[in-house]
Order: sequence, then structure tokens, then C-alpha cells
Amino acid sequence: MLNHWFRQADNVCYSNAILLLQRMPLSMHFFPALFRFPKDDPAQATRARHTLMSSVSALTVSSFTLYCTHIGLFRMSVASLTGFLTLAFIIHALFYAAICTGWNRRLADPSMTMVQIINSILWMMFVLYFIDQVRGAVLVLFMIIFVFGIFRLRLAQFVGAALFTLLSYALVIALLAYNQPQSINVKIELLQWVLLAMVLPWFALIGAYISNIRSALRHKNKELETALATIEHLASHDELTGIANRRCFLDALRREQARVDREAQPFCLALFDLDFFKAINDLHGHSAGDKVLRTFAECVQKEVRKSDYFGRYGGEEFALLIVDAEIALASSILERIRTGIEEQAFPLVNRKVTASIGVAQYQPGETISNLINRADQALYAAKKGGRNCVKQAIDDTEEAGVIMALH
Ligand code: GH3
Ligand code: MG
Ligand code: MG
Repeated sequence: MLNHWFRQADNVCYSNAILLLQRMPLSMHFFPALFRFPKDDPAQATRARHTLMSSVSALTVSSFTLYCTHIGLFRMSVASLTGFLTLAFIIHALFYAAICTGWNRRLADPSMTMVQIINSILWMMFVLYFIDQVRGAVLVLFMIIFVFGIFRLRLAQFVGAALFTLLSYALVIALLAYNQPQSINVKIELLQWVLLAMVLPWFALIGAYISNIRSALRHKNKELETALATIEHLASHDELTGIANRRCFLDALRREQARVDREAQPFCLALFDLDFFKAINDLHGHSAGDKVLRTFAECVQKEVRKSDYFGRYGGEEFALLIVDAEIALASSILERIRTGIEEQAFPLVNRKVTASIGVAQYQPGETISNLINRADQALYAAKKGGRNCVKQAIDDTEEAGVIMALH
């Protein structure tokens, strides 16, 4: 009865598989993305790689069964077996396509490890049922299947897969004893079953242990990534005000210089220096001075455009990179910021806080230090010109330090 069913299924699967194989090149022609390796997503790439590895292992087992058919150790014709094996490879291709198209992301376990392992176990039962004489040796192949579990499975899943294997194998033994009594020695088969039952729990235990180590490692890597991000933030930001520090600001300046040299867009550099800040410290204390620096940074940050870059240059000096702006536009932006500071309330010191500002437009080809020097000269001129004002450096790099008064 069961043989008859298998023979029927054999024929149906075989003809369907041939049909599918004939259509395959056409569908692959229409859906090339379906089989494209997901290179840009590391997690998906790992899943695709594992699925391909399991397909290669299935290919070796298939070759082995085909050879067994050839030498008469597999109770099935080469044509029927080829049909079944084609079906197995279509299932593998579906797993692979699910990953390449991203469909697997909808699943609770996007790696589909358990489903793929159950699929492999079922195919192993198929081989065990039809193979003769070398059935015991074939059991070794379960180890390959369980090795794939190390990539993902937890202990409970490993135990579940082991129990499923043992129950299915017991069923295969019972079916063989009923349908093919001449091809089975039940005593030996049961002995093999006991052996498998002794080996699989250990395999599950060690596999789960390795799997746990892998997930602990993943967890540690995540922690390291977070720690690295914190270190990067600490290395590039000023602790007191939370804005970019001098190193980070200079990096941004160099990046902008490279971009402007490429794209011929103007940009300006402004240097700020708080007026009579020493007096604030002396009169109200250092912590009040710190609070003024924080409030000042917040106030400027509020006023600058999203594209601009603000940083603490050192002490009570700050720098602002104003992108896509010529000096006239930059000066009007700075004038607005200067007024904003003047109007800002500084409760702890209960007095007006002002800043002097020097601004220079980048001249294509000039060095960063020359640009800073020109902005600094303009700042010096602002201090000399009575403080609480914006001064422009002139464009001519040769005459750095020659200042043009804005007001
Ligand atoms: P000017 O208008 O000429 O710039 O006068 P000034 O008093 O601002 O100039 P000066 O450079 O003499 O003083 C700057 C002061 O800023 C001196 C220093 O103690 C203070 N300072 C530098 N960094 C900090 C800081 O992080 N916190 C506080 N509270 N004070 C700081
Ligand atoms: Mg100063
Ligand atoms: Mg100052």
C-alpha cells in the first residue's frame, strides 16, 4: 500500500519536477533578483551563505543516493529518485529565494534554521526508508544537519529536533518492518536507534553550548559597538557644552574645504570670543562662568542653520562653519546671532554677555591655517573696534589681516 503510494507520488513529483526544471531558466530570466546574493545586508548574507552550504551538503547526499541506486542499494529507479531530488532542490531554491527577496524578514526566525533542519530530517527519513544495507552508516549524516543548528538553535530547539529525529527514525523502522521485512534486521536497527538516541542528546547539548557562546559573543560585540560610539562621541565633543570640540571642528573644516575645492561652492569661517569673560569668572565664580558658556553655546546652536557646523575652539572661543554662503550672507547670519546673544538672559550672572566675531570667506587653494589666521585677525579687529561686533577679513589671502569694518 505504502509502496504503491510512493510509486504514485514518485511519478507525479517526477513529471512536475521535470516541468519546473524546463520552466526554470525562463523564470530566472524574468526574476534575476530572486537569486541574487544579498551583499549589502550582512545578516541576510550570512543566512544566504548558510542556506547555500546546506544545499551543497544536500547535493553530496543526493549524489550518494544516486550512486546507491546505480549499484542496487536504493529501492527506487534512477528516474524516480531524480524526480524526488529535483523536488528537494526546488525546496532549497525556495529557501534561498525567500532570503534573497527579503521575504524571510517577516518570520519570527528569519534564518529559518528550524524549518530547514526539519526539512533535512524529513529527507533523511526518505533516504533511510529506501536505502538498504548501509542504513547504519547513513545515520552519520544527521551530524551534518545538527551542525547547522549551531548557527542559531537554542537548547530546547536542539532537543526538539533530536526528539523529532528519533521518533521519525522509529517510525521508519516500524514501516520497514511492516512493508519490507526482508530488507531489515529489526534487532540491529533498534540497536542503531539506541546508539543515535545516545549520541543526539550530547550533540544537542554541545551544539546549544556553542550556540550560546556565539550569542554571548554577539551581545558583547553590540556592547563594544555602543562603547566605541561613546568613546567616539567623547573624543569629538566638548564635555561642558556638548558641541563639537576643536579636533572635530577642524575635521569638518577640512571636509568642507575638500568639498568646496571639488564643487566650487563658497563657505565662511567665523571665530567667536566672549567679551570680558575673565571678569565674569572673577565676579561670579568659575561654575557661573561654565553655565554662561553652556547657555552661550545653546543660544548660538539655536540660531545656526542645520547645514552649518558649530564647535568649541577652546576656552571661551567658539568657531562656526557657514556653508554655501559668501561673506555678505555669512555676516548677516552672524549679525543675527550676535544680537541673539546680546538679548539672551544669563540669570546666574545677571548681566549682558556679548561676543566679538571675526569672519573670513575661504579662498580656493588657501590653507586651513591661513583661513583661521584671517578669521582670527578679523576677530582681533572686532575686539579693537569696541567688542560686541562682527568684522570681516578681506578676500585677498596675500593681505591677510586687512580688515573691513562691517559697522
Ligand atoms: P576679551 O574681551 O578681551 O576676550 O576678555 P576676556 O576676559 O574674555 O579674555 P581672556 O582671554 O583674558 O579671558 C578668558 C577667560 O576664560 C580666562 C579663562 O579663565 C576663562 N575660561 C577659559 N575656559 C573656561 C572654562 O571652561 N570655564 C570657565 N568658567 N572659564 C574659562
Ligand atoms: Mg579669549
Ligand atoms: Mg574673551
